[in-house]
Amino acid sequence: MSRRRQIYEGKAKILYEGPEPGTIIQYFKDDATAFNNQKKGTINGKGVLNNRISEHVFTLLGQIGIPTHFIRRLNMREQLVRQVEIVPVEVIVRNVAAGTLSKRLGIEEGTPLPRTILEYCYKDDALGDPMITDEHIACFGWASQDEMHEISDMAIRVNDFLSGLFAGIGIKLVDFKLEFGRVWDGDFSRIILADEISPDGCRLWDMKSNEKLDKDRFRRDLGGEVEAYQEVARRLGLMPDEGAGADTVLNFADAKKARGPE
Ligand code: C5P
Repeated sequence: MSRRRQIYEGKAKILYEGPEPGTIIQYFKDDATAFNNQKKGTINGKGVLNNRISEHVFTLLGQIGIPTHFIRRLNMREQLVRQVEIVPVEVIVRNVAAGTLSKRLGIEEGTPLPRTILEYCYKDDALGDPMITDEHIACFGWASQDEMHEISDMAIRVNDFLSGLFAGIGIKLVDFKLEFGRVWDGDFSRIILADEISPDGCRLWDMKSNEKLDKDRFRRDLGGEVEAYQEVARRLGLMPDEGAGADTVLNFADAKKARGPE
């Protein structure tokens, strides 16, 4: 039996050669990292949840006409996607001040932003994904100006759609990160949405309690990471419902007690 070829191993995913040319298999790991790999851990079951959540979100985005790399989910931890030439620019979309924006500019976490902010970071782990501007992107040829227009337009559309989707299930979309890739058709290329959309790369706060339902639980040692990710999946209708409604406020202390010693 031939073993499939691994193309790349990242912090939270492994990429394997897909069954047909131009396809890739994305395997979702349980590994979690934060602060550019300085903090490492495992969140049991995270990969399964992120695979499901990302499948759901990418499918819906596809249905509203956003071109994405997603083809289909293969199993609990893997999905088939289109191979892309990744644009080395991470796009961060912010609706509410949090994280590095709050730290950098001294704006209290939770302050609603009067308008959505797009930020760009150069995708380079060794450099810690430094923030860049359009000028750097044009100067170093990481993407053309046309591509950056497409990318920023798509990021805003994704934000509008996802803000509504999450608001409908009692979750505030504070901020998130997107990645884009190029697909080639002869001499022509176009931009499609790539990577994943999951609580690993989004800040998701319960609307009523402001409880964090994302990777900040891991970054900030809050505990209850699995419960938080499960709660997002459950509200999206991806988990067997145990009778709780979208307005249920998670009790992390009780959940932890029920889980027993870690
Ligand atoms: O850390 P910061 O506040 O800049 O993060 C903004 C948003 O982008 C957060 O939702 C975070 O999860 C996401 N992000 C990411 N990967 C990075 C940097 C940020 O998913 N390398």
